[in-house]
Amino acid sequence: PGHYRQASSLTSMLSAEIIAIGSELLTPNFVDTNSMYLTRQLNELGISVVMKTIVGDDEIYLEQALRGSLERTPIVITVGGLGPTEDDVTRKVVARVLHRQLVLDDAILAAIEKRFKARSIDMPKNNARQALILTGSTVLENKNGTAPGLWIGADRNHVVLLPGPPSELMPMFEETCIPKLHKLAGDIALSRRIFRTTGLAESSLDARIAPIYQKHKNVQTTVLAKPGQVDVRLTAAGKTVAEADRAVQELAGEIEMELRDYIFTNTEQSLEEVVGASLTAKQATIAVAESCTGGMLAERLTAVDGSSRYFMSGLITYSNESKISLADIPPLLLEMQGAVSEEVARGLAEGVREKVGTTIGVGITGIAGPSGGSPEKPVGTVHIAVAGPALTKHQASLFYGSRDRVRWQAAQAALNMTRRLLMEI
Ligand code: AMP
Ligand code: MG
Repeated sequence: PGHYRQASSLTSMLSAEIIAIGSELLTPNFVDTNSMYLTRQLNELGISVVMKTIVGDDEIYLEQALRGSLERTPIVITVGGLGPTEDDVTRKVVARVLHRQLVLDDAILAAIEKRFKARSIDMPKNNARQALILTGSTVLENKNGTAPGLWIGADRNHVVLLPGPPSELMPMFEETCIPKLHKLAGDIALSRRIFRTTGLAESSLDARIAPIYQKHKNVQTTVLAKPGQVDVRLTAAGKTVAEADRAVQELAGEIEMELRDYIFTNTEQSLEEVVGASLTAKQATIAVAESCTGGMLAERLTAVDGSSRYFMSGLITYSNESKISLADIPPLLLEMQGAVSEEVARGLAEGVREKVGTTIGVGITGIAGPSGGSPEKPVGTVHIAVAGPALTKHQASLFYGSRDRVRWQAAQAALNMTRRLLMEI
């Protein structure tokens, strides 16, 4: 989850729409996984998906959706509604909209009958519907079920009808559609870059890079915001890999110059993986003392494969007593400054570093909420300190959102401060 928007699109790319059909897709817990799969596959071919529609098993709504798609987009792929029952209306509606007849295909009927015979069951009469095809269409064989797919070349569009069950759709698409789509898309090469950033809100990041990517209309730029992180993805198309690379690299270079060390990676790695790799490279070790994050930082650090090389210990110093006894925070300091303070964060970081004997110590103390805030220290106030061999860095933050969000962002900021400190070691 996260806020996603397409900052600019590749006008030169062939485009497709997907219409997912089925009333079950409109219930609260059903995810339309087929269109995610299709989007990934289409993107690989250099075809961008410009719109997805989900419609119930309803002839009128499907007809409207289909007419709209046909007006806008050269490739229209429908998913589902090819079953044998009355509520499976895709064939009927597509035939009506494209002015085609539905005719019984003897070869398909024989194949369906054979499937049932092989299982020693009589074919229900209904299944004969699945042998109805539109005149002038190409049949897409279904090796894993009864309903074949159909490919219809219409005046301005290619219309592709695929079955709903993923186990039928995926092999059918790969075997029969990819070769056809590949031909349509031509030899288009794609080149991609990613920048993962932290420390800048989405709006500030966009304000910085929009003037840059707006000059590069031939590169698709998307911005995806998650708590404590904003990803920027660039995709360029070209006739050759070299051409696509050149287009994307020019923009990537300018964005990198602008965002500099807000960027924590140009790979798909998470922030904790990047920190882990840096600790490993520097042969450094780390220990953490967490209050409001309750172990979340330790959990994220140790979720990374190979973390035993650098992660030594994590303390959850939640109560004042534990801050005193486990991290050597002076009782007077707690009393004077309060548990949520710069001094205590520094004390936790230096205390755990000293006690465990690591290169780096991290201390986090804050108010995750929703209760416990005060006018001087509102909910979301978090003090983070990172102690290294030469110095201790501190950051005071005010995070917004739910308890979970505040805790996540505190861990994220602590990881980022660790990353930055490691660059100086
Ligand atoms: P249908 O071809 O409409 O009879 O679909 C049969 C079954 O395929 C449905 O009951 C779903 O379980 C599954 N299905 C249909 N559409 C989708 C979709 N868009 N994503 C994932 N599964 C689907
Ligand atoms: Mg259905």
